[in-house]
Amino acid sequence: EDIILEARDLKKHFNLGGGRILKAVDGLNFAIKRGETFGLVGESGCGKSTAGRTLIGLYDATEGDIAFNGRNVRQMDRDGKRKFNRSMQMVFQDPYASLNPRMTVGRIIAEGIDIHGLYSGKERDARVKQLLKDVGLNEEHAGRFPHEFSGGQRQRIGIARALAIEPEFIIADEPISALDVSVQAQVVNLFKKLQHDRGLTYLFIAHDLAMVKHISDRIGVMYLGKLVEVTTSEKLNSKPLHPYTRSLLSAIPLPDPKLQRERERIILQGEIPSPLNPPSGCPFRTRCPNAMAKCAESMPEFKEVEPDHYTACHLY
Ligand code: SF4
Ligand code: MG
Repeated sequence: EDIILEARDLKKHFNLGGGRILKAVDGLNFAIKRGETFGLVGESGCGKSTAGRTLIGLYDATEGDIAFNGRNVRQMDRDGKRKFNRSMQMVFQDPYASLNPRMTVGRIIAEGIDIHGLYSGKERDARVKQLLKDVGLNEEHAGRFPHEFSGGQRQRIGIARALAIEPEFIIADEPISALDVSVQAQVVNLFKKLQHDRGLTYLFIAHDLAMVKHISDRIGVMYLGKLVEVTTSEKLNSKPLHPYTRSLLSAIPLPDPKLQRERERIILQGEIPSPLNPPSGCPFRTRCPNAMAKCAESMPEFKEVEPDHYTACHLY
């Protein structure tokens, strides 16, 4: 199998002082295949954005390793690191905050090209114009400023900026959650088209499983800094194993009203515990409808319980 990115026991802890450690990402193990869309889902505060930022190198990992194209990022020399930085790009949630309001769109898009010294002069300008067209904008837009564009257009600019240095891998952190529902599908379709045309691999971070399950080949579900389940979108949908995944799926309305009436909605009790003070044993046990005595005593191991289907739960 052709693995492009792999996290091995990846941890990102933040020391908040006074002995308080926020274990935002606490031991992730998963692999992303070349050309696929891997969806990372979970409620806000579960550590999914921190995971994305750690994978791309915006944060230094506290522990564990990241392998890119089979090579450990920690052990890369300067040349390897530069290639890694060129191969990975990020698209952010907020298309308003992530574009510099004082820069023209052309300069915003060309920033990476300039930093990496890829093109200059006419070639650079032609490249920017082409990128604008590739994301569904037009070349005259290069001279304008971000405030002249709608939310959906700004996210297209953010995507053009990410594409400018020809990455292999894009981490998109909730790229459509700040957009109007009417433009969300258009931006999702753009992501799909670009993936098809360029062979891109995506890590798509979202809190909304309903959306992620449509666009992802495989999905990882996070809870309190840990992965609780990883499998194909199809298996997650037809045979979710982890009680947390089952509750998330049960909240998604079904198109068929008869099926909808027959289905049991699993409502979770209580709030997500503070990541500063997670429960003993299984982190989900305070809300789990299936919790048993042993769930308080020991942390379930994250393991492959069926081919290409991983979960961390004492039921399996
Ligand atoms: Fe629920 Fe126990 Fe499984 Fe955790 S290990 S998800 S508490 S059954
Ligand atoms: Mg987030």
